[in-house]
Amino acid sequence: MGSANPDKVAEMAQLLDGFEVLPRPESLGDVVEDADTLEGNARLKVRAVCEAAGEAAVADDTGLEVDALGGAPGVRSARYAGENATYDDNVDRLLAALDGVPLEERTARFMTVVILAWPDGREVVVEGAVEGRIGFERRGTNGFGYDPVFCPDEAPGETFATMSSEAKHAISHRGRSLRALRAALVG
Ligand code: IMP
Repeated sequence: MGSANPDKVAEMAQLLDGFEVLPRPESLGDVVEDADTLEGNARLKVRAVCEAAGEAAVADDTGLEVDALGGAPGVRSARYAGENATYDDNVDRLLAALDGVPLEERTARFMTVVILAWPDGREVVVEGAVEGRIGFERRGTNGFGYDPVFCPDEAPGETFATMSSEAKHAISHRGRSLRALRAALVG
């Protein structure tokens, strides 16, 4: 798959149970993700791996869309606070950008696009989304990225970072997109 991140590979392998999922060949290095859509970035990653490996490959791209910010950080979620931003830097910038915005206007969603591609050009493209709000401060220590400030509508009183990974992925963008991929493959 188009990721060298062991957590994501493990999660994909679990959700695509029955399929063999291998991490991106290390020799490939990082793919420059400079498309302006999630689907465009997922395609850049999946095509690079597919061509290098000569086999089917899968890649995903995720963004957090905040309505009060016109959909930002969106496709720039990983680099919202700058090129080498940490998760903490990105959350700080998000909370600052929403300073003074009331709860009812803090609506947001995580969107994931997953592409499975074959060397002959065939593709399966699926999406997953989860709706929620951006909290006023961090809560919880599980997960990663924007999890401590994402309050999913389907789990009142929680953030993704207060939930177990099983509970998170039962409703998460990535869990949903991978289950959609699995359903597309096995029917
Ligand atoms: P990627 O496309 O999966 O690399 O995600 C891009 C960025 O979105 C990451 O750097 C994180 O900041 C954020 N992100 C992706 N998935 C999650 C999630 O499940 N929880 C919180 N943040 C996430």
